[in-house]
Amino acid sequence: TTPVLTIDGPSGSGKGTISRLVAQQLGWHYLDSGALYRAVGVAAGWADIDLADPAALVRCAFDTDIRFREAEDGELRVLVNGLDATDELRTETAGAAASAIAAIPEVRAALKDRQRQFCQPPGLVADGRDMGTVIFPGASVKVFLTASAEERAERRYKQLSDKGVSVTLSGLLREILARDARDAQRAVAPLRPADDAVRIDTTGLGIEDVVGQVLALVKR
Ligand code: C5P
Repeated sequence: TTPVLTIDGPSGSGKGTISRLVAQQLGWHYLDSGALYRAVGVAAGWADIDLADPAALVRCAFDTDIRFREAEDGELRVLVNGLDATDELRTETAGAAASAIAAIPEVRAALKDRQRQFCQPPGLVADGRDMGTVIFPGASVKVFLTASAEERAERRYKQLSDKGVSVTLSGLLREILARDARDAQRAVAPLRPADDAVRIDTTGLGIEDVVGQVLALVKR
């Protein structure tokens, strides 16, 4: 059977960066499950679907065509209904829409098979929040990444100020703490590590360190 490595954790834990690098080094496929939720959120916006209309959102989750394509510079582009939506998917608006629709159990169910279809030889690195608990419970290796809220706020601060976005560190920290509380309390798919997940606290660790630790788990 095809090996699966799941990497779950809160936003800012570094799971996107780490997952991509590990997938590259192993030569495995990469699933960015958050992008699927974001894509459905963006498609719902394009179609003027009310975020308070679960039935319409579920239909949207089934009907939206989502494709990942590697660009020449190695960057992963996301096509939503044939349109390159990569930049739009990264916005706070898309994140908020994703988090609203991700709370609807039927939407999660609608995206389940689609996520499992990414499991193709020679292997898959699956990045998300419920990869090890719900989508790939039988995964060969499960990792749960964490980092202190302060560190996650600092990473986000660097990312945003590099892009010229003006934000404050204290404002970001407040947002992250609020998002943590919401994610931990939500009734549907609350963020929690799988029982058999290896936890790595990335606070104070460099990217290469974490990639090395994860690769060592796969090669064990
Ligand atoms: O990881 P990312 O920030 O792109 O995810 C956007 C939102 O989608 C998250 O805030 C979360 O609410 C939701 N999500 C989820 N399950 C996943 C991936 C993302 O509920 N596997």
